[in-house]
Amino acid sequence: MTELEKEKIISDVKKLIRDVPDFPKPGIIFKDIMPFLSDNRTFKNTIKYLASRYKEKNISKVIGIEARGFIIAAPLALEIGAGFVPVRKKGKLPYKTISVTYDLEYGTDTLQIHEDAVKKGENVIIVDDVLATGGTAKAVCELTKKLGGNVSEILMLIELEFLKGREKLKDYELFSLIKY
Ligand code: AMP
Repeated sequence: MTELEKEKIISDVKKLIRDVPDFPKPGIIFKDIMPFLSDNRTFKNTIKYLASRYKEKNISKVIGIEARGFIIAAPLALEIGAGFVPVRKKGKLPYKTISVTYDLEYGTDTLQIHEDAVKKGENVIIVDDVLATGGTAKAVCELTKKLGGNVSEILMLIELEFLKGREKLKDYELFSLIKY
């Protein structure tokens, strides 16, 4: 894929991200990726572009973060010949899990992964739609490390740079397609 083709994809994606003010609460501008997902050509080309980053990288698993992360992680996993692994909110996964609890603005949240989802030494990518404060992605990195996995890269469709999530994740490789 040429640099020109990549630039075209990024500008196509940008046009398909919808700002929804005051959702889910006042003051938040929600980055709605549904128009992007419903555009077959742009969604498909984006997955191809993202997949091109991981050729020859020996990635075994692509971890998607509930829930919109799943939608990007699953086709990416297929495209690069890796398995898909979900990380979910507490109480949703059926088999034995390990957990990590992390701080939110108010209170805490707990994320879980199946204890056999990543094997020791496997290279993984962690995927979500939006990087905000970075707390969620950091928690998923911790889950991955607890299982002995190696975080090759954190991949975000959108990075909200003003929230400085990247600083929280400075120990990891981080790639985002679009920055605001
Ligand atoms: P954080 O842990 O602060 O990086 O928050 C990341 C999670 O919250 C991701 O799963 C995002 O999907 C979601 N999120 C945070 N802020 C936004 C936003 N402005 N628009 C859409 N999703 C968001």
